[in-house]
Amino acid sequence: MKKIRIKVILANLVFTTVIYSQIELVDKCGYIYGDQTNHYLARTANWGYGYDSLLVDLERWGESPFVTVDSLGASVQNRALWELTIADDPESSSNHRIYIHARTHPGEEESFWVTNEIINFLISDTPLAAFIRTNCIFHIIPMYNPDGVELGYARENANGVDIESGWDDVPLELEVAVLKNRFIELTSLVDNPIEVALNMHSSYSCKRYFVYHDAAGTSENYTTLEQQFINAVQSYFVDGFEDWDYFVSWTSGTPDQYPESWWWMNHSENVMALTYEDMNCEAAGNYDSTAYALVLGVCEYIGLDLSQIQNEASMPGSYSLLQNYPNPFNSTTTLRYDLAGQSNVNIIIYDMLGREVKTLINQTQDAGFKSIQWDGTNDYGKQVSAGVYLYRIQAGEYMQTKKMVFLK
Ligand SMILES: [Zn+2]
Repeated sequence: MKKIRIKVILANLVFTTVIYSQIELVDKCGYIYGDQTNHYLARTANWGYGYDSLLVDLERWGESPFVTVDSLGASVQNRALWELTIADDPESSSNHRIYIHARTHPGEEESFWVTNEIINFLISDTPLAAFIRTNCIFHIIPMYNPDGVELGYARENANGVDIESGWDDVPLELEVAVLKNRFIELTSLVDNPIEVALNMHSSYSCKRYFVYHDAAGTSENYTTLEQQFINAVQSYFVDGFEDWDYFVSWTSGTPDQYPESWWWMNHSENVMALTYEDMNCEAAGNYDSTAYALVLGVCEYIGLDLSQIQNEASMPGSYSLLQNYPNPFNSTTTLRYDLAGQSNVNIIIYDMLGREVKTLINQTQDAGFKSIQWDGTNDYGKQVSAGVYLYRIQAGEYMQTKKMVFLK
């Protein structure tokens, strides 16, 4: 509790310039220490996606024949830390192993939305996803800090500790101990230990980038590998990500408090362990394109030959409108749809009396796997009342309507 109190005091001192300059330290997520007025409970409760939403999604994901859902352990407030394993054969001793954990910092909910799209892509019914599932084992923690999410803490766990930078603490916070043990378990596998570990965040600088580790804190060879990895991801979403040298850290040596520090000190060049920063701002979005690029970048890095599959699989074979998620929702929901060809796309939300509530999109779009979000506002920007709504897509000749539930 002590740490929280100190932060509140600092926030009050922000307006006295001398102290402000001393505490204005920006971390890799673009967060300014002490700037709690902006980031502490600054958004709606749970930032639109709470632990209950996760439990609903776990049930849905768990229905996929390719998903195994496990609890790795418990948080400080005794919430399960859920991990999904996505693979055709989770017990395989030859397939490539990849680890992704998200939402260490609860206020960085975009890191979850990208991870959510990674999951949706990996369990999807496309030849590309099937090929990846045949060759890889993905382990994913969608919500690594559930207590922080439920408490509305921007950064910390229930003890008021930032578990991103507590990997050298004695004793370890419960969440850190759980994840570290899991990493140890999966890297001690002789045949197929973890090859890539992504630590998902989002940044107030409103850019998508990787935190690149300088040779001073790693090795020359590792920086080459980092550049290969980042360039590969970038090639699948051109202009979507900043270049590899946008954010360079560890320029004066290896720090010891981060997950990537643990990776480097224990497994050095054997594991590509990086923090990814999505956008944490109004301009955030394109989570599906981002997820696609991250997964394909990983596949290219570990040496899968995607060239043949990709051409067939990068475009949907038919038009469809998918069920929104989360559903029910209380802040923002995502509507997914597939376009088999270039089409004039019109998506409108109606209430149960058939009255138009909001036009979400009305424009020509290229073929592809698409998504759009609805934040529960109408055409005039006003919050609608709770209830059942319909969403209808018209794309060329294709027309489909589905239901969703908005809660408050
Ligand atoms: Zn972060």
